[in-house]
Amino acid sequence: MPDVFKPLLLSACASLALAMPAYAHPDTTTFEQSAFVEAPEIVDCTLEDGTEAQCHQITVGYLPEGLEIGPFCPATLDDAGGIWGWSGENAGLYRVDGNFLRMLDGLGYRFFDEDGNVYSVDNATEQPTVDHACINVSVDESVEITMLLPVDSVMAKTPSDLGVVSKIGVALDDVPIFSDAPPIQVTGHMPALDTCGGHVDPGGWYHWHGTSTDVETVFDAQGVRADCALEQDASAQFGYALDGFPMFGSLEADGSVPVGLDACGGHIAVTALGETYHYHTSDDFPNLPACLVGVRAQNNFTTTATAGVGAQRAGEDGRNEAPRPEGGPGGMPPGFDTAADTLGITAEALLEAMTAAGGRDADLAEVAASLGIQESALRDALPLAPGQ
Ligand SMILES: [Zn+2]
Ligand SMILES: [Zn+2]
Repeated sequence: MPDVFKPLLLSACASLALAMPAYAHPDTTTFEQSAFVEAPEIVDCTLEDGTEAQCHQITVGYLPEGLEIGPFCPATLDDAGGIWGWSGENAGLYRVDGNFLRMLDGLGYRFFDEDGNVYSVDNATEQPTVDHACINVSVDESVEITMLLPVDSVMAKTPSDLGVVSKIGVALDDVPIFSDAPPIQVTGHMPALDTCGGHVDPGGWYHWHGTSTDVETVFDAQGVRADCALEQDASAQFGYALDGFPMFGSLEADGSVPVGLDACGGHIAVTALGETYHYHTSDDFPNLPACLVGVRAQNNFTTTATAGVGAQRAGEDGRNEAPRPEGGPGGMPPGFDTAADTLGITAEALLEAMTAAGGRDADLAEVAASLGIQESALRDALPLAPGQ
């Protein structure tokens, strides 16, 4: 090769190396081992973009041993329960107490009776009998959850937006992580979070809706009077997103403020795991990535529960979820994922809104209004029922 081309070739290689940074791989030995139902293993999986890959398969129980959860709903207006991210008028993160519940009452959502007792319901076992109840689900100790994390993270062509109750990842304490809990404006009810940002799914298992190991940064920023019993560390790794990229608190390992974060809240920089793409939390709740930059595995989250997110079939009374035939992606009814994609929302949000409005016989005008979309767009996008 003529010498004159060598610098060109070298610089081409250098830019190729820059374009393809080394990503950290999920390390299952850094998870809390006692919560595993089975030892993690590497299995064949298919990524959402259709490529065949290898994934870490992690199977955990309903709640890690020793993790104290609650309180969620306060018993009366004189008590303080957990926290709630309110998205209506006077939006913000609140302690679920008399002040907050009186404010909601002023906005048309009354969660208490004339004696100041807070309406609460265990929606795993009972139906709310009031328009607005605080939801306090009992745990189901038999439930197991299986999650898949790609061994080698792959950047998606475009980041995937996360809406209500999207699966985000798994914390190093083995607790699943989800985006925003369903808003009161959609369901009428409040599935209150505890002061670390977690609660129990209708399937009976606990999960996070925020970065629990750095949630007090949000409390400080927003003047919320609450404490989380977990050790707080803004520089620590919280977990892994379902695209395999690590999730950290609001600061870098050296205590500095992260710079150059993208729209999802992540960037490529040096971490305790080496130089890799990683996400940071913010001081806004839910303090989680706004989107995921990488490709997730198909069927990345399943549970043995009969209801709730990831359940393979509905409970006997079908109350908590629309019917979920086996084999659909993520346990969703056939066509729901495509319909949700078309509408620019998550399948979970669509299912949640349909379920809240009466399931199969839902009034589509009501569903469209609760999702903030046009009814005609919803009708066009929804899969046809068999025979139609
Ligand atoms: Zn939840
Ligand atoms: Zn960083």
